[in-house]
Amino acid sequence: HPVGSPNKDLIMSEQASEAARRSILPLPDVLISQIAAGEVIERPASVVKELLENALDAASRHIELRIEDGGMQRIVVSDDGNGIPPDELALALTRHATSKIRSLEELEQVHSLGFRGEALASIASVARTILRSRSTQDEHAWSLDSTTGEIEPASGAKGTRVEVIDLYAATPARRKFLKSAATEAGHSIEELRRVAIAHPEVSFRVQSEQRVVLAWPSQTWQQRVRSGMGADADHADSLIAFDSGDTAVLRLYGLLGHPERAKSRSDKQYFYVNGRFVRDRLLQAAMRQAYRDVLHHDLQASWCVFLNIAPELVDVNVHPSKFEVRFRDPQAVFRFIALQLADVLKGSG
Ligand code: ADP
Ligand code: MG
Repeated sequence: HPVGSPNKDLIMSEQASEAARRSILPLPDVLISQIAAGEVIERPASVVKELLENALDAASRHIELRIEDGGMQRIVVSDDGNGIPPDELALALTRHATSKIRSLEELEQVHSLGFRGEALASIASVARTILRSRSTQDEHAWSLDSTTGEIEPASGAKGTRVEVIDLYAATPARRKFLKSAATEAGHSIEELRRVAIAHPEVSFRVQSEQRVVLAWPSQTWQQRVRSGMGADADHADSLIAFDSGDTAVLRLYGLLGHPERAKSRSDKQYFYVNGRFVRDRLLQAAMRQAYRDVLHHDLQASWCVFLNIAPELVDVNVHPSKFEVRFRDPQAVFRFIALQLADVLKGSG
């Protein structure tokens, strides 16, 4: 037997005998959330995404994000949205509790970014989470600290503030998979960019390590896409705007990077389906097809495309982070995008 303390041997033999037969037990609730967190909370930016989506679902007009130590020490998202009344604060942190859907019919028609009721519970299961909120009906704000479960009166304007502290305190092993604070902050800011591009009417402000790194006022969609694509004035002028207008079932609009500006590595490419950022094979292929005649095959153009489609023609409930979608008629969607955009680009000269 290799060297090992008697203690270790004892533990190993106990495990071995237990492996023979352990009775089936339901998982404790917190453990279920921690398992879900393992899947959804890959890095600080994943928390940022969930908190921003919640703020947008609450019809906020202004959203602020603050991150410290790349989000590992602290992530704070504050909004001026609808808020949560005090008697529902605990439910907000409860798994599978949501205000967004009530039935399968509502799931199939869902317009909100969230609907699973899992994000806050997952986050609170792996990090201290302080939820402070004030709805229109409340005379003052209330706060709930996930570590104590206590709800207390607090000060604060209408809206919600979620603070996530020491994200990896309980799971230091996970922290080892993360990159430097600067890189993680970059991921969080990119996540905000993705979310914010689809919500031009909302103003955003981001502070990282005490520094304001992004401040976008309420804008038109074209202005916001230009801000989001980080286009300098010159590049911004070369972007080609298009809009199919509302047809019976869909609308396709956005800005296309001029083929002459294409680069050898993949640049800013954003695709949204019903306001949700997606990374989808079919849509990527449709974009490649659209550019095929005007672009050298190993160059990558930048673009930002919004596809709005009747909710019953698309299923968003196929991926926990909802990066993928499933269309009722994928080929029709592919052809529509490829043909429409090839046509736009043909005119670009
Ligand atoms: P989901 O977004 O899928 O419903 P979450 O765990 O993200 O699940 O949030 C749970 C609930 O908490 C939401 O359904 C919503 O009612 C409430 N909530 C969360 N964040 C906010 C916010 N920023 N403003 C208002 N309500 C919020
Ligand atoms: Mg949510």
